[in-house]
Amino acid sequence: MTAGALLASPVLVHAETDQDKLNRIQSELQGNQEELQNKQQEKGQIEQDIQALQQKLDELNTAITTNQKELSDTQEAIRKTEEEITRKKEHIAYLQVQIEKRQEVIKQRLQTVQEQPRINLITEVLINAKNLAELLENLYSINLILNSDNDIVKEQVRDQKAVEKETLAVEAKERDLKDYEAKLTAKKQELDINKQQEQQILDELSAKLAQTNAEIESAEEVASLLEAQRQAVQANIAAAERAKQEAIRQQEAAKNNNGTVSAPSPSKPVAPPASNTGGFIKPAAGAFTSGFGPRVVNGKPGFHYGVDIAQGGHVPVVAAAGGIVIKAHYSSSYGNVVYMTHNISGKQYTTVYAHLASMNVSTGQTVSQGQQIGVMGNTGQSYGQHLHFELHVGAWNAAKSNAVNPVPYLR
Ligand SMILES: [Zn+2]
Repeated sequence: MTAGALLASPVLVHAETDQDKLNRIQSELQGNQEELQNKQQEKGQIEQDIQALQQKLDELNTAITTNQKELSDTQEAIRKTEEEITRKKEHIAYLQVQIEKRQEVIKQRLQTVQEQPRINLITEVLINAKNLAELLENLYSINLILNSDNDIVKEQVRDQKAVEKETLAVEAKERDLKDYEAKLTAKKQELDINKQQEQQILDELSAKLAQTNAEIESAEEVASLLEAQRQAVQANIAAAERAKQEAIRQQEAAKNNNGTVSAPSPSKPVAPPASNTGGFIKPAAGAFTSGFGPRVVNGKPGFHYGVDIAQGGHVPVVAAAGGIVIKAHYSSSYGNVVYMTHNISGKQYTTVYAHLASMNVSTGQTVSQGQQIGVMGNTGQSYGQHLHFELHVGAWNAAKSNAVNPVPYLR
């Protein structure tokens, strides 16, 4: 309900001629078209932004996929390295057992040497040894050499070194992989945050697009309504003109048939636009559940441009006065809605009947007061069955500046 902000308040509405009305509707239509164009432009920009963002998101998703693959590859490598480490550890354990076994052998052999020294060796050593200490020392060394203990010692040293080296190597490899995994994980977090942010912007833009689309839809609705109203006013002018011509023709005919009884005109004069003097009647049975004026809707201050009449069951809705249906259609906000124009004692009025379950009339139709135009319903932005009824003194406009409280007008 923003479209009409650009409209001047039509103070002189009652003094307007039909041509004035037409002109005003025309300029309103023009303003509406400009607004529509602006909205379309705005929409185009948002759609462009969304496209750019979508591309960014696609790139991010690709990066995330690549990172994910690298991460799982690294984790697979870590898993394999850990397997390798397990195998190495098994090997190390095996080597350790070997080392311990050899240690045992070495110890036993030493004991054997000490317990059962070989005679020939001892003889030799005895001859060469300078004292008992040296003799014992030599005995130990010789024993190791002669029993090929040299090899066993070499093996011992080799295995111990291998254990050390292998352990260091796999530990280093594991460390490197874990470092890389940490880096990839950090990168993944960064990408995820980026994606989240982009997604949030995208969501905001999408919401904005939906809002703009709704505004465009409502501007288009206003345009179609103004156009329908323009046609109704034009039809009014044409009908009045035809009625005038008919009156002249009948006058002429009466003059020509001077004195004689004039035959009834064969062609019925075109009825002037529905006009009545009886005021308005309540358009549906039920209680007034919401009055005309400011009210809070969903926590936001708003203005109720009509009154709500509610009653359960099948409730017929009738024309509050005779007139012409400007438009009968479905709108997302009003649901099934009928707009009527009335000419009462030379004054123009517009009535609106919204949220109808069904409609009995169509655009352009002439309807008399009390004639059923639809059934009370709950269509459009409505919460519970009711009739939303508006009365505008003058023409309908997007700003609804002519809306009045209809209750005092009802008899
Ligand atoms: Zn209402």
